[in-house]
Amino acid sequence: MPVTAIVGAQWGDEGKGKITDLLAQEADLVIRFQGGNNAGHTVINEYGTFKLHLVPSGIFNPDALCVLGPGMVVDLVALSTELRELEASGVPTANLRLSERAHLLMPWHVALDRLDERERGRQKLGTTGRGVGPAYSDKVARHGIQAYEVCDERRFRERVAHELETKNKVLERFGDAPLDAQETADAVLAAAALLGERIVDTLPLVERALERDDGVLLEGQLGAMRDLDWGIYPYVTSSNPLAGFASIGAGIPPRRITRVIGVVKAYSTAVGEGPFPTELHDAVGDELRERAFEYGASTGRPRRVGWFDALVPRYAHRLNAFTELAVTKLDVLGPYEEIPFGVAYELDGRQTTDMPPTHVLERARPRYERLPGWLADLAGTTDRRGLPSAAQQYLRRIEETVGARVGMIGIGPERTATIL
Ligand code: GDP
Repeated sequence: MPVTAIVGAQWGDEGKGKITDLLAQEADLVIRFQGGNNAGHTVINEYGTFKLHLVPSGIFNPDALCVLGPGMVVDLVALSTELRELEASGVPTANLRLSERAHLLMPWHVALDRLDERERGRQKLGTTGRGVGPAYSDKVARHGIQAYEVCDERRFRERVAHELETKNKVLERFGDAPLDAQETADAVLAAAALLGERIVDTLPLVERALERDDGVLLEGQLGAMRDLDWGIYPYVTSSNPLAGFASIGAGIPPRRITRVIGVVKAYSTAVGEGPFPTELHDAVGDELRERAFEYGASTGRPRRVGWFDALVPRYAHRLNAFTELAVTKLDVLGPYEEIPFGVAYELDGRQTTDMPPTHVLERARPRYERLPGWLADLAGTTDRRGLPSAAQQYLRRIEETVGARVGMIGIGPERTATIL
């Protein structure tokens, strides 16, 4: 079976959770390879409706092992809450494993994230305020605490007290309340106790799966435009949502990843700040947001919405080499007679299909083609050829402009509303 990476080809919220949940029905191992609880992967299946923040979207297959990979930053208190909620809905979580090398997102990271956003003022990034950026900063600065460190309680308490000496100075300097070392360590250790034996070395699990030729899914968070290196810096996340990082963040040799699915929404949305050339600022955008219910799964913030911008997934394809695209939310475009479709940017008097860096992209004006709409409800369609011809044309135009074939088509939020 191929090792498959599932990654976002736009700004995030493309519907990776739904695609992972669907493919996980046949998988043996599902690994989230980056990010923290700033994710909100929405999954709708026989158990109900879930917004998964840390837990891989494969958790609904009781036969699949679900791993929070070493590339993640994990808030143990948030994880324990999420596990309790899943259990309360009848979803077994015994098959969850947390990499002992994953970094812990500690309460001070949340406090520092909010402080940083506040102090940036008008230059704010629009983070979710969950502490993900500061947790990765500490990892890179060699101040991070890895998950295995909770096993030695005395040493863990010392590390917490030591880190808080400097973190509290920063918090107090900006007028925020300091954190109490004992309370902080108590809360994290209590959450760790709930996980117990599920904090493990995940490398042997991955090796065993590869030896057995098991189905392995690597689930990314956010999308290429929020990649730390290739996205719209500084309006990016603090890790790499590109498939290249799936190898590092899951702990799997790169040449074992043979299938890369780019998840792409049939139009565009973004949460947070930064350039978004095809953004709609008018009533058409408001109507699209309401009808598609484009509100952040993690924060409930209204998402910015706009027309499809082919340059974005094309750029993501250049970086990821998608073996296929999963186009989601095609059903949402049902009511339009004509659909604007971004194919190029006008930039300083010339036309381009390349992706410029952030502050140049801010000046880019989209050039649209107008594709015919299909004015039809797609519900119940089971085959691409059964779609209205204008919808088929829309998908073909995505394939032509992005350069990758469409392998899956989402026509509704439920797991079953997917054409394969
Ligand atoms: P993720 O973070 O990439 O998993 O995406 P989110 O879960 O944040 O946002 C995607 C939203 O689109 C969720 O509310 C999904 O339930 C919904 N969704 C996914 N695929 C489809 C689809 O094909 N049609 C419709 N109407 N909704 C979809």
